Amino acid sequence: MLESTTTINPFEVALKQLDEAAKLIKLDKGVQQVLAHPKRVLTVSIPTRMDDGEIKVFTGFRSQHNDARGPFKGGIRYHPQVTIDEVKALSMWMTWKCAIADIPYGGGKGGIICNPKEMTQGEIERMTRRYAYGIADIIGPHTDIPAPDVYTGGKEMSWIMDTYSALKGNFVQPELITGKPLAIGGSLGRNEATGRGLSFTVREAAEKLKINMKTATVAVQGFGNAGQFAAQFVEEQGAKILAVSDSKGGVYNKDGLQAGALRKHKEKTGSVVGFTGAKAINNEDVLETDCTILIPAALENQITKKNAGKISAKLVAEAANGPTTPEADEILYKNKTLVIPDVLANGGGVTVSYFEWLQNLRREYWSENEVNERLDRNITNAFLNVYDTHEKYGVNMRKASILLAVNRVVEAIKIRGLWP
Ligand code: NAD
Repeated sequence: MLESTTTINPFEVALKQLDEAAKLIKLDKGVQQVLAHPKRVLTVSIPTRMDDGEIKVFTGFRSQHNDARGPFKGGIRYHPQVTIDEVKALSMWMTWKCAIADIPYGGGKGGIICNPKEMTQGEIERMTRRYAYGIADIIGPHTDIPAPDVYTGGKEMSWIMDTYSALKGNFVQPELITGKPLAIGGSLGRNEATGRGLSFTVREAAEKLKINMKTATVAVQGFGNAGQFAAQFVEEQGAKILAVSDSKGGVYNKDGLQAGALRKHKEKTGSVVGFTGAKAINNEDVLETDCTILIPAALENQITKKNAGKISAKLVAEAANGPTTPEADEILYKNKTLVIPDVLANGGGVTVSYFEWLQNLRREYWSENEVNERLDRNITNAFLNVYDTHEKYGVNMRKASILLAVNRVVEAIKIRGLWP
Protein backbone atom coordinates (compact mmCIF):
# COMPACT_ATOMS: atom_id res chain seq x y z
CA MET A 1 0.00 0.00 0.00
CA LEU A 2 1.24 3.50 -0.76
CA GLU A 3 0.69 6.91 0.64
CA SER A 4 2.80 10.04 0.96
CA THR A 5 2.88 12.14 4.09
CA THR A 6 1.95 15.80 3.59
CA THR A 7 3.10 18.93 5.38
CA ILE A 8 -0.47 19.83 6.45
CA ASN A 9 -1.05 18.65 10.02
CA PRO A 10 -3.53 15.82 9.43
CA PHE A 11 -4.88 15.90 12.98
CA GLU A 12 -5.90 19.56 12.52
CA VAL A 13 -7.69 18.56 9.30
CA ALA A 14 -9.47 15.75 11.14
CA LEU A 15 -10.54 18.11 13.95
CA LYS A 16 -11.85 20.63 11.41
CA GLN A 17 -13.94 17.96 9.70
CA LEU A 18 -15.32 16.89 13.08
CA ASP A 19 -16.16 20.50 13.90
CA GLU A 20 -18.05 20.96 10.60
CA ALA A 21 -20.07 17.81 11.18
CA ALA A 22 -20.71 18.78 14.83
CA LYS A 23 -22.16 22.15 13.74
CA LEU A 24 -24.48 20.55 11.20
CA ILE A 25 -25.92 18.06 13.68
CA LYS A 26 -25.78 20.54 16.60
CA LEU A 27 -23.62 18.15 18.58
CA ASP A 28 -23.25 18.62 22.31
CA LYS A 29 -19.87 20.33 22.99
CA GLY A 30 -18.88 17.76 25.60
CA VAL A 31 -19.47 14.83 23.26
CA GLN A 32 -17.52 16.66 20.55
CA GLN A 33 -14.62 16.93 23.00
CA VAL A 34 -14.79 13.18 23.62
CA LEU A 35 -14.44 12.62 19.87
CA ALA A 36 -11.70 15.24 19.51
CA HIS A 37 -9.40 13.23 21.80
CA PRO A 38 -8.22 9.69 21.08
CA LYS A 39 -9.04 7.44 24.02
CA ARG A 40 -5.42 6.32 24.30
CA VAL A 41 -2.16 7.05 22.48
CA LEU A 42 0.85 4.92 23.30
CA THR A 43 4.43 5.76 22.31
CA VAL A 44 6.93 2.91 22.52
CA SER A 45 10.66 2.79 22.09
CA ILE A 46 11.82 -0.16 20.02
CA PRO A 47 15.45 -1.14 20.60
CA THR A 48 16.47 -3.32 17.68
CA ARG A 49 19.68 -5.25 17.03
CA MET A 50 20.78 -4.35 13.50
CA ASP A 51 22.70 -6.78 11.29
CA ASP A 52 26.00 -5.05 12.04
CA GLY A 53 25.55 -5.81 15.75
CA GLU A 54 24.65 -2.22 16.76
CA ILE A 55 21.46 -1.38 18.64
CA LYS A 56 19.15 1.15 17.01
CA VAL A 57 16.16 2.58 18.89
CA PHE A 58 13.07 3.21 16.76
CA THR A 59 9.93 5.01 17.95
CA GLY A 60 6.49 3.51 17.42
CA PHE A 61 2.93 4.60 18.16
CA ARG A 62 -0.52 3.12 18.54
CA SER A 63 -3.47 5.49 18.69
CA GLN A 64 -6.86 4.20 19.80
CA HIS A 65 -9.40 6.84 18.90
CA ASN A 66 -12.81 5.53 19.86
CA ASP A 67 -14.30 2.14 20.70
CA ALA A 68 -17.93 3.02 21.41
CA ARG A 69 -19.11 0.76 18.55
CA GLY A 70 -16.54 -2.04 18.94
CA PRO A 71 -12.82 -2.81 19.25
CA PHE A 72 -10.31 -0.42 17.73
CA LYS A 73 -9.32 -1.37 14.20
CA GLY A 74 -6.65 0.04 11.93
CA GLY A 75 -3.38 -0.46 10.13
CA ILE A 76 0.26 -0.19 11.13
CA ARG A 77 2.53 1.80 8.81
CA TYR A 78 6.30 1.89 8.48
CA HIS A 79 7.50 5.20 7.09
CA PRO A 80 10.27 7.72 7.88
CA GLN A 81 7.71 10.54 8.12
CA VAL A 82 5.26 8.91 10.54
CA THR A 83 4.25 11.39 13.27
CA ILE A 84 2.09 11.06 16.33
CA ASP A 85 -0.41 13.56 14.86
CA GLU A 86 -0.65 11.60 11.61
CA VAL A 87 -1.35 8.40 13.54
CA LYS A 88 -3.96 10.18 15.71
CA ALA A 89 -5.72 11.59 12.63
CA LEU A 90 -5.69 8.26 10.84
CA SER A 91 -7.18 6.58 13.93
CA MET A 92 -10.04 9.12 13.90
CA TRP A 93 -10.61 8.50 10.18
CA MET A 94 -10.74 4.76 10.90
CA THR A 95 -13.50 5.40 13.46
CA TRP A 96 -15.48 7.14 10.72
CA LYS A 97 -14.64 4.56 8.04
CA CYS A 98 -15.83 1.64 10.20
CA ALA A 99 -18.98 3.53 11.19
CA ILE A 100 -19.76 4.34 7.54
CA ALA A 101 -19.26 0.69 6.53
CA ASP A 102 -21.44 -0.13 9.57
CA ILE A 103 -19.05 -2.74 10.90
CA PRO A 104 -18.74 -3.11 14.70
CA TYR A 105 -15.35 -1.53 15.13
CA GLY A 106 -13.90 1.72 16.38
CA GLY A 107 -10.80 3.38 15.00
CA GLY A 108 -7.13 2.76 15.67
CA LYS A 109 -3.83 3.26 13.87
CA GLY A 110 -0.19 2.48 14.49
CA GLY A 111 3.16 3.30 13.00
CA ILE A 112 6.90 3.12 13.38
CA ILE A 113 9.24 5.91 12.28
CA CYS A 114 11.63 3.91 10.09
CA ASN A 115 12.65 3.37 6.49
CA PRO A 116 11.97 -0.29 5.74
CA LYS A 117 13.46 0.14 2.24
CA GLU A 118 16.86 0.54 3.89
CA MET A 119 16.48 -2.39 6.29
CA THR A 120 17.02 -6.13 5.87
CA GLN A 121 14.26 -8.70 6.46
CA GLY A 122 15.95 -9.74 9.70
CA GLU A 123 16.06 -6.16 10.98
CA ILE A 124 12.42 -5.57 10.03
CA GLU A 125 11.39 -8.80 11.75
CA ARG A 126 13.23 -7.97 15.01
CA MET A 127 11.85 -4.40 15.00
CA THR A 128 8.31 -5.68 14.29
CA ARG A 129 8.42 -8.27 17.07
CA ARG A 130 9.76 -5.74 19.57
CA TYR A 131 7.00 -3.26 18.57
CA ALA A 132 4.42 -6.04 18.99
CA TYR A 133 5.82 -6.67 22.48
CA GLY A 134 5.59 -2.93 23.22
CA ILE A 135 1.92 -2.63 22.27
CA ALA A 136 0.87 -6.17 23.33
CA ASP A 137 -0.92 -4.98 26.46
CA ILE A 138 -3.25 -2.63 24.61
CA ILE A 139 -4.04 -4.72 21.50
CA GLY A 140 -6.01 -7.96 21.45
CA PRO A 141 -8.66 -9.89 19.49
CA HIS A 142 -11.44 -8.13 21.44
CA THR A 143 -9.77 -4.79 22.11
CA ASP A 144 -7.68 -3.61 19.15
CA ILE A 145 -7.14 -5.52 15.90
CA PRO A 146 -4.27 -4.19 13.74
CA ALA A 147 -3.85 -4.64 9.96
CA PRO A 148 -1.33 -3.78 7.21
CA ASP A 149 -0.86 -0.23 5.95
CA VAL A 150 1.91 1.66 4.15
CA TYR A 151 4.96 -0.64 3.68
CA THR A 152 3.61 -3.44 5.86
CA GLY A 153 1.89 -6.63 4.68
CA GLY A 154 1.25 -10.28 5.40
CA LYS A 155 4.76 -10.93 6.71
CA GLU A 156 4.66 -8.21 9.36
CA MET A 157 1.14 -9.28 10.38
CA SER A 158 2.34 -12.88 10.81
CA TRP A 159 5.25 -11.81 13.06
CA ILE A 160 2.93 -9.67 15.19
CA MET A 161 0.45 -12.55 15.52
CA ASP A 162 3.23 -14.98 16.39
CA THR A 163 4.79 -12.66 19.00
CA TYR A 164 1.43 -11.83 20.58
CA SER A 165 0.38 -15.51 20.64
CA ALA A 166 3.64 -16.47 22.38
CA LEU A 167 3.29 -13.67 24.94
CA LYS A 168 -0.40 -14.07 25.70
CA GLY A 169 -1.13 -17.66 26.60
CA ASN A 170 1.11 -19.32 24.03
CA PHE A 171 -1.69 -20.50 21.74
CA VAL A 172 -2.34 -19.32 18.20
CA GLN A 173 -4.62 -16.27 18.02
CA PRO A 174 -5.23 -15.42 14.35
CA GLU A 175 -8.14 -13.14 15.32
CA LEU A 176 -5.62 -10.65 16.74
CA ILE A 177 -4.79 -9.20 13.36
CA THR A 178 -6.09 -9.09 9.76
CA GLY A 179 -4.40 -9.02 6.37
CA LYS A 180 -2.68 -12.33 7.14
CA PRO A 181 -1.54 -14.83 4.52
CA LEU A 182 -4.16 -17.52 3.75
CA ALA A 183 -2.03 -20.23 5.41
CA ILE A 184 -2.57 -18.72 8.87
CA GLY A 185 -6.19 -17.60 8.58
CA GLY A 186 -6.25 -14.86 5.97
CA SER A 187 -9.46 -14.43 3.98
CA LEU A 188 -10.13 -15.21 0.35
CA GLY A 189 -11.02 -12.02 -1.51
CA ARG A 190 -8.98 -9.73 0.78
CA ASN A 191 -6.43 -8.89 -1.91
CA GLU A 192 -9.08 -7.64 -4.34
CA ALA A 193 -11.43 -6.21 -1.67
CA THR A 194 -10.61 -2.51 -1.99
CA GLY A 195 -11.00 -2.43 -5.79
CA ARG A 196 -14.06 -4.67 -5.70
CA GLY A 197 -15.76 -2.59 -2.99
CA LEU A 198 -15.02 0.56 -4.98
CA SER A 199 -16.63 -0.95 -8.08
CA PHE A 200 -19.84 -1.56 -6.09
CA THR A 201 -19.98 2.12 -5.05
CA VAL A 202 -19.41 3.11 -8.69
CA ARG A 203 -22.27 0.84 -9.82
CA GLU A 204 -24.65 2.43 -7.27
CA ALA A 205 -23.55 5.98 -8.05
CA ALA A 206 -23.96 5.32 -11.78
CA GLU A 207 -27.55 4.33 -11.14
CA LYS A 208 -28.22 7.52 -9.18
CA LEU A 209 -26.60 9.68 -11.88
CA LYS A 210 -28.21 7.70 -14.71
CA ILE A 211 -24.82 6.75 -16.13
CA ASN A 212 -24.99 3.66 -18.33
CA MET A 213 -21.97 1.54 -17.32
CA LYS A 214 -21.97 -0.13 -20.76
CA THR A 215 -21.12 3.17 -22.43
CA ALA A 216 -19.14 4.73 -19.56
CA THR A 217 -15.44 5.52 -19.96
CA VAL A 218 -12.85 5.47 -17.17
CA ALA A 219 -9.44 6.91 -16.26
CA VAL A 220 -7.38 5.43 -13.42
CA GLN A 221 -4.42 7.14 -11.75
CA GLY A 222 -2.20 4.50 -10.10
CA PHE A 223 -2.14 0.85 -11.07
CA GLY A 224 -1.19 -0.86 -7.80
CA ASN A 225 -3.36 -3.07 -5.63
CA ALA A 226 -6.33 -0.69 -5.39
CA GLY A 227 -6.15 0.74 -8.93
CA GLN A 228 -5.78 -2.45 -10.93
CA PHE A 229 -8.65 -4.27 -9.26
CA ALA A 230 -10.86 -1.18 -9.40
CA ALA A 231 -10.14 -1.02 -13.15
CA GLN A 232 -10.83 -4.72 -13.64
CA PHE A 233 -14.17 -4.68 -11.79
CA VAL A 234 -15.57 -1.55 -13.43
CA GLU A 235 -14.53 -3.05 -16.76
CA GLU A 236 -16.51 -6.17 -15.84
CA GLN A 237 -19.56 -3.89 -15.46
CA GLY A 238 -19.09 -2.91 -19.11
CA ALA A 239 -17.11 0.32 -18.82
CA LYS A 240 -14.20 1.10 -21.14
CA ILE A 241 -10.82 1.98 -19.54
CA LEU A 242 -9.38 4.83 -21.61
CA ALA A 243 -6.36 5.93 -19.58
CA VAL A 244 -4.17 4.52 -16.81
CA SER A 245 -0.98 5.76 -15.15
CA ASP A 246 1.61 4.67 -12.63
CA SER A 247 4.70 6.34 -11.17
CA LYS A 248 6.56 5.91 -14.50
CA GLY A 249 3.92 7.49 -16.79
CA GLY A 250 0.54 7.01 -18.41
CA VAL A 251 -1.09 5.26 -21.37
CA TYR A 252 -4.22 6.07 -23.39
CA ASN A 253 -6.27 4.25 -26.00
CA LYS A 254 -9.57 5.65 -27.28
CA ASP A 255 -10.71 2.11 -28.08
CA GLY A 256 -10.01 0.94 -24.53
CA LEU A 257 -7.20 -0.66 -22.53
CA GLN A 258 -7.92 -4.14 -21.27
CA ALA A 259 -7.23 -4.28 -17.49
CA GLY A 260 -6.10 -7.94 -17.43
CA ALA A 261 -3.64 -7.50 -20.30
CA LEU A 262 -2.39 -4.28 -18.74
CA ARG A 263 -1.72 -6.08 -15.44
CA LYS A 264 0.28 -8.78 -17.25
CA HIS A 265 2.27 -6.08 -19.06
CA LYS A 266 2.99 -4.34 -15.74
CA GLU A 267 4.02 -7.64 -14.12
CA LYS A 268 6.46 -8.26 -16.95
CA THR A 269 7.91 -4.78 -17.43
CA GLY A 270 7.30 -3.08 -14.07
CA SER A 271 5.05 -0.36 -15.53
CA VAL A 272 1.96 0.29 -17.65
CA VAL A 273 4.20 2.38 -19.94
CA GLY A 274 4.79 0.85 -23.38
CA PHE A 275 1.52 -1.12 -23.44
CA THR A 276 0.77 -2.35 -26.96
CA GLY A 277 -1.50 -0.09 -29.01
CA ALA A 278 -1.56 2.68 -26.41
CA LYS A 279 -0.41 6.28 -26.69
CA ALA A 280 1.95 7.64 -24.02
CA ILE A 281 0.48 10.44 -21.88
CA ASN A 282 1.53 12.12 -18.65
CA ASN A 283 0.01 12.07 -15.22
CA GLU A 284 -1.95 15.34 -15.55
CA ASP A 285 -3.44 14.10 -18.82
CA VAL A 286 -4.79 11.03 -17.03
CA LEU A 287 -6.66 13.11 -14.48
CA GLU A 288 -7.99 15.43 -17.18
CA THR A 289 -8.98 12.66 -19.61
CA ASP A 290 -12.36 13.22 -21.21
CA CYS A 291 -14.21 10.36 -19.48
CA THR A 292 -17.25 9.52 -17.34
CA ILE A 293 -15.52 8.10 -14.27
CA LEU A 294 -12.18 9.07 -12.71
CA ILE A 295 -10.50 6.77 -10.17
CA PRO A 296 -7.54 8.32 -8.32
CA ALA A 297 -5.71 5.31 -6.85
CA ALA A 298 -2.19 6.55 -6.14
CA LEU A 299 -1.21 9.45 -3.92
CA GLU A 300 -2.87 12.13 -1.83
CA ASN A 301 -3.48 15.73 -3.01
CA GLN A 302 -3.68 14.93 -6.74
CA ILE A 303 -6.92 16.79 -7.53
CA THR A 304 -6.28 20.38 -6.52
CA LYS A 305 -7.76 23.82 -7.23
CA LYS A 306 -5.40 23.97 -10.24
CA ASN A 307 -6.82 20.97 -12.12
CA ALA A 308 -10.27 20.41 -10.56
CA GLY A 309 -11.90 22.73 -13.12
CA LYS A 310 -10.45 20.64 -15.95
CA ILE A 311 -11.90 17.37 -14.75
CA SER A 312 -14.69 16.31 -17.06
CA ALA A 313 -15.71 13.11 -15.23
CA LYS A 314 -19.25 13.00 -13.84
CA LEU A 315 -18.08 10.69 -11.08
CA VAL A 316 -14.83 10.58 -9.07
CA ALA A 317 -14.34 7.43 -6.99
CA GLU A 318 -11.46 7.79 -4.53
CA ALA A 319 -9.52 4.55 -4.16
CA ALA A 320 -6.56 6.47 -2.71
CA ASN A 321 -6.72 8.12 0.68
CA GLY A 322 -7.00 11.92 0.48
CA PRO A 323 -6.48 12.43 -3.30
CA THR A 324 -8.70 15.56 -3.40
CA THR A 325 -7.89 18.82 -1.59
CA PRO A 326 -10.74 20.71 0.19
CA GLU A 327 -10.65 23.53 -2.43
CA ALA A 328 -10.89 21.00 -5.26
CA ASP A 329 -13.81 19.35 -3.48
CA GLU A 330 -15.75 22.63 -3.62
CA ILE A 331 -14.99 23.08 -7.33
CA LEU A 332 -16.11 19.55 -8.17
CA TYR A 333 -19.29 20.00 -6.11
CA LYS A 334 -20.11 23.23 -7.97
CA ASN A 335 -19.47 21.49 -11.29
CA LYS A 336 -21.91 18.75 -10.26
CA THR A 337 -19.25 16.01 -10.26
CA LEU A 338 -20.20 13.44 -7.66
CA VAL A 339 -17.23 12.44 -5.49
CA ILE A 340 -17.40 9.09 -3.71
CA PRO A 341 -15.00 9.91 -0.87
CA ASP A 342 -12.15 7.63 0.25
CA VAL A 343 -13.77 6.71 3.58
CA LEU A 344 -16.66 5.20 1.61
CA ALA A 345 -15.10 4.18 -1.72
CA ASN A 346 -12.12 2.27 -0.29
CA GLY A 347 -14.01 0.82 2.70
CA GLY A 348 -14.02 -2.62 1.04
CA GLY A 349 -10.58 -3.32 2.50
CA VAL A 350 -11.58 -2.92 6.14
CA THR A 351 -14.91 -4.66 5.49
CA VAL A 352 -13.19 -7.83 4.30
CA SER A 353 -10.75 -7.48 7.22
CA TYR A 354 -13.83 -7.66 9.43
CA PHE A 355 -14.90 -10.84 7.58
CA GLU A 356 -11.41 -12.28 8.15
CA TRP A 357 -11.77 -11.59 11.90
CA LEU A 358 -15.22 -13.24 11.98
CA GLN A 359 -13.89 -16.32 10.21
CA ASN A 360 -10.96 -16.51 12.65
CA LEU A 361 -13.17 -16.13 15.73
CA ARG A 362 -15.40 -18.95 14.48
CA ARG A 363 -12.50 -21.02 13.05
CA GLU A 364 -14.32 -20.98 9.71
CA TYR A 365 -13.24 -20.50 6.10
CA TRP A 366 -15.69 -18.77 3.78
CA SER A 367 -15.71 -19.24 0.02
CA GLU A 368 -14.63 -16.30 -2.11
CA ASN A 369 -18.18 -16.05 -3.38
CA GLU A 370 -19.56 -15.67 0.12
CA VAL A 371 -17.00 -12.97 0.94
CA ASN A 372 -17.83 -11.05 -2.24
CA GLU A 373 -21.60 -11.28 -1.77
CA ARG A 374 -21.38 -10.02 1.80
CA LEU A 375 -19.04 -7.24 0.67
CA ASP A 376 -21.55 -6.18 -1.96
CA ARG A 377 -24.36 -6.01 0.62
CA ASN A 378 -22.30 -4.00 3.14
CA ILE A 379 -20.80 -1.52 0.67
CA THR A 380 -24.06 -1.00 -1.22
CA ASN A 381 -25.85 -0.19 2.05
CA ALA A 382 -23.05 2.14 3.06
CA PHE A 383 -23.25 3.96 -0.27
CA LEU A 384 -27.04 4.34 -0.08
CA ASN A 385 -26.87 5.61 3.52
CA VAL A 386 -24.26 8.23 2.62
CA TYR A 387 -26.19 9.23 -0.52
CA ASP A 388 -29.37 9.74 1.52
CA THR A 389 -27.46 11.86 4.05
CA HIS A 390 -25.98 13.93 1.19
CA GLU A 391 -29.48 14.63 -0.12
CA LYS A 392 -31.04 15.23 3.30
CA TYR A 393 -28.44 17.79 4.45
CA GLY A 394 -27.58 19.22 1.01
CA VAL A 395 -23.84 18.65 1.53
CA ASN A 396 -21.23 16.88 -0.60
CA MET A 397 -20.66 13.14 -0.19
CA ARG A 398 -17.51 13.63 1.92
CA LYS A 399 -19.27 15.80 4.47
CA ALA A 400 -22.24 13.43 4.36
CA SER A 401 -19.96 10.46 5.13
CA ILE A 402 -18.45 12.13 8.20
CA LEU A 403 -21.90 13.31 9.31
CA LEU A 404 -23.33 9.81 9.09
CA ALA A 405 -20.32 8.38 10.91
CA VAL A 406 -20.36 10.97 13.70
CA ASN A 407 -24.09 10.40 14.19
CA ARG A 408 -23.57 6.63 14.50
CA VAL A 409 -20.65 6.94 16.92
CA VAL A 410 -22.43 9.58 19.02
CA GLU A 411 -25.49 7.37 19.28
CA ALA A 412 -23.31 4.54 20.64
CA ILE A 413 -21.56 6.90 23.09
CA LYS A 414 -24.90 8.22 24.37
CA ILE A 415 -26.49 4.79 24.73
CA ARG A 416 -23.48 3.45 26.63
CA GLY A 417 -23.28 6.57 28.81
CA LEU A 418 -20.27 8.02 30.60
CA TRP A 419 -18.59 5.84 33.19
CA PRO A 420 -18.34 6.37 36.16
P1 NAD B 1 0.32 0.33 -4.34
O1 NAD B 1 1.69 0.66 -3.84
O2 NAD B 1 -0.02 -1.10 -4.59
O3 NAD B 1 0.04 1.11 -5.72
C1 NAD B 1 0.22 2.47 -5.88
C2 NAD B 1 0.28 2.79 -7.37
O4 NAD B 1 0.38 4.20 -7.55
C3 NAD B 1 1.47 2.17 -8.09
O5 NAD B 1 1.02 1.65 -9.32
C4 NAD B 1 2.39 3.37 -8.34
O6 NAD B 1 3.20 3.20 -9.47
C5 NAD B 1 1.37 4.46 -8.55
N1 NAD B 1 1.91 5.81 -8.41
C6 NAD B 1 2.83 6.30 -7.55
N2 NAD B 1 3.07 7.59 -7.80
C7 NAD B 1 2.30 7.92 -8.85
C8 NAD B 1 2.12 9.11 -9.60
N3 NAD B 1 2.76 10.23 -9.29
N4 NAD B 1 1.25 9.08 -10.62
C9 NAD B 1 0.56 7.97 -10.95
N5 NAD B 1 0.70 6.82 -10.28
C10 NAD B 1 1.57 6.80 -9.25
O7 NAD B 1 -0.68 0.99 -3.31
P2 NAD B 1 -2.23 0.65 -3.08
O8 NAD B 1 -2.35 -0.33 -1.97
O9 NAD B 1 -2.90 0.38 -4.37
O10 NAD B 1 -2.73 2.04 -2.48
C11 NAD B 1 -3.03 3.15 -3.31
C12 NAD B 1 -3.90 4.11 -2.53
O11 NAD B 1 -5.08 3.44 -2.11
C13 NAD B 1 -3.25 4.67 -1.25
O12 NAD B 1 -3.70 5.98 -1.04
C14 NAD B 1 -3.81 3.78 -0.18
O13 NAD B 1 -3.81 4.38 1.10
C15 NAD B 1 -5.22 3.56 -0.71
N6 NAD B 1 -5.87 2.38 -0.13
C16 NAD B 1 -5.47 1.13 -0.48
C17 NAD B 1 -6.10 0.04 0.11
C18 NAD B 1 -5.69 -1.37 -0.21
O14 NAD B 1 -6.33 -2.30 0.31
N7 NAD B 1 -4.71 -1.59 -1.05
C19 NAD B 1 -7.14 0.22 1.06
C20 NAD B 1 -7.53 1.52 1.35
C21 NAD B 1 -6.89 2.59 0.75
